[in-house]
Amino acid sequence: MRNINLSLLGAPGAGKGTQAEIISEKYGIPAISTGAIIREEIASGSPLGETVKSYTQAGALVPDEVVIDIIKARLAKPDCENGFILDGFPRTVPQAEALCELGVEITDVISIEVADEDIMDRMAGRRVCKACGATFHTKFKPSPNGEKCTCGAELTRRADDDPEVVKSRLVIYHETTEPLKAFYEAKGLLKIVYGQEKLEDTTALTAAALEG
Ligand code: AMP
Repeated sequence: MRNINLSLLGAPGAGKGTQAEIISEKYGIPAISTGAIIREEIASGSPLGETVKSYTQAGALVPDEVVIDIIKARLAKPDCENGFILDGFPRTVPQAEALCELGVEITDVISIEVADEDIMDRMAGRRVCKACGATFHTKFKPSPNGEKCTCGAELTRRADDDPEVVKSRLVIYHETTEPLKAFYEAKGLLKIVYGQEKLEDTTALTAAALEG
């Protein structure tokens, strides 16, 4: 089987994280979320966490050089040898160029497309576990434990899922991240998946895009 080095593009809340987890299970390759790594650093109070906190909480992108160092260290781990899924990286053209310079070959790029209005609705229901980082959605992916996580801890809304912050994250997405579609289209790697109301429908379309 070929190595899959996949990058998932898409607006915040388009479903990249959920699809990344599903593909990760299916192929036995790690799903790497730069956003999750950043949130862990912030929660641990590390110097890196302190550096990036103000950007992330305001819904802004963390500077390229910081996030490139994060991904470089993560991709050097042995579990990435047989493939990986990048959820939320690259988010700028310079980040994509940095991957090329590092000699990291991206084999597949899938952009999950969801209209901004639907993103706003979806983000309102998104929940994350403060203890283990698991993500849920009140409507699309409810926790079997109701208001609590499967690990038993409280579920909360991320500070950057606040509607005003989401609006500015969408502006940043369209201005800064969407140009990556043309970047990867030019390399013949881009596939588009239209995010569906039902999770399993998006999953089927994503699998077809990856395998087709
Ligand atoms: P996410 O969980 O993917 O929505 O990411 C949450 C936040 O982490 C983003 O709003 C950014 O502040 C930061 N972040 C994650 N990935 C990147 C990236 N590739 N470039 C810059 N900032 C990022």
